[in-house]
Amino acid sequence: MTGLAQLVPYDEALSRYEPVIGLETHVELGTRTKMFCGCPTTFGLEPNSAVCPVCLGLPGSLPVANRAAIEYTIRIGLALNCSIATWCRFARKNYFYPDMPKDFQISQYDEPLCTDGWIDVEIDGRTVRVGIERVHLEEDTGKSLHMGGATGRIHGAEYSLVDYNRAGIPLVEVVTKPVAGTGALAPDVARAYVTELRDLLRSLGVSDVRMEQGSLRCDVNTSLAPHGSAEWGTRTETKNVNSLRSVERAVRFEIERQAAVLDAGQKVVQETRHFHEEDGTTTAGRSKEEAQDYRYFPEPDLVPVAPDRDWVEQIRASLPELPAARRARLQADWGLSGLEMTQLQNAGALDLIGATVDAGAPAADARKWWMGELARHANATGTDMSELPITPVQVARVSALVRAGTINDKLARQVLEGVLAGEGEPDAIIEARGLAIVTDEGALTSAVEAAIAANPDIAAKIRDGKTAAAGALVGEVMKATRGRADAGRARELILQQLA
Ligand SMILES: [Zn+2]
Repeated sequence: MTGLAQLVPYDEALSRYEPVIGLETHVELGTRTKMFCGCPTTFGLEPNSAVCPVCLGLPGSLPVANRAAIEYTIRIGLALNCSIATWCRFARKNYFYPDMPKDFQISQYDEPLCTDGWIDVEIDGRTVRVGIERVHLEEDTGKSLHMGGATGRIHGAEYSLVDYNRAGIPLVEVVTKPVAGTGALAPDVARAYVTELRDLLRSLGVSDVRMEQGSLRCDVNTSLAPHGSAEWGTRTETKNVNSLRSVERAVRFEIERQAAVLDAGQKVVQETRHFHEEDGTTTAGRSKEEAQDYRYFPEPDLVPVAPDRDWVEQIRASLPELPAARRARLQADWGLSGLEMTQLQNAGALDLIGATVDAGAPAADARKWWMGELARHANATGTDMSELPITPVQVARVSALVRAGTINDKLARQVLEGVLAGEGEPDAIIEARGLAIVTDEGALTSAVEAAIAANPDIAAKIRDGKTAAAGALVGEVMKATRGRADAGRARELILQQLA
């Protein structure tokens, strides 16, 4: 790979250059049917089974815009504080691509549905406002599958197949304004923005936002200019960066690479670049087309879109509580600091803790189990917290059992372990493993008497008034009951017997 030999270490690059980033995010909308026809949008169907003359671009077929997709786009625009166009048109974007059946894509060009908004992201306790240039609606392309090679990529493949099921699925593109002035935090800002946007889209219910399935895809623009320069540098566009971590790495790599190019007195080439997950590098793709290369013109087969103002206001009124507002409310409800809240969010535990509280657990308990035992388990097994085989309802039940005195914290850990191991519901595990605290006073008294009888030296000390020694006998009782005794009650009984 070219360019790998020369990278400037990150901190050194930042000491000479100021990065400017921008993000273009494509979101597949979760509508039932495609953008301009009635074909289903279901993921994973038999290739080329969800197609019709419209999405195959057959002669004589005519598109009709999907009202739900327009509503979803307006919902996204409003949530991003955008202005909603009173009148706009679709445009034809002409270019050749084997998986695009019509050889043009119906998109929006100079008349996007939503413009000029913003979203705030939090980085290390600092708020960065990311401007939104536009939110527009278009159709997705099909998908090429390269067969016969080792990697599934076009290089080395013997032949290619095309699946048009994805062709025509409504796609929203959210384009940021250039984000400048974030310095060394630029990669973190990029990641935080995509995270915030993903959470926002999920809360709006407009997409399943699964990056690994391609329903959320990012193109990351990066440029560098010497500190104090009046002009921004030439930007590159790294295409289809498909995980949050990759977004961060792609920006970081481009900063290190472009710094080396500029240090050598060369010019950064305006081009699209491919990101490589394996080693976090980017390599040159095609040189970037200019808008004129696409020969945009208004789509003649579709009527203009003129959203009724009352309809827009209805959509605005129906917006759910957005993630930033929800976080602020939960932080106040749960009495947490900003830092603690960020930790929950970064651990991916916010929704889980929220749901555990909704299921009846005190916030402090919910936080203790998710950020303690369960976070450790997720870490150790390399699993996302949300993928752990335990539900918030089950965690809330464990919390309730501790509060009721049926189990203590130590036993609760064993119950959680049992749930994670697939042994069933908490109550069933307590029963099967025999984990309930011994509340039978007779049984506890026998255990206390046995511990005293087995340790005459310690018993003598306690009789002499050295009550601190009772701890050792409590330990014996706990051992004998396999941790199921109420330690406080055991201590009382020991002191009573030896008074
Ligand atoms: Zn169709």
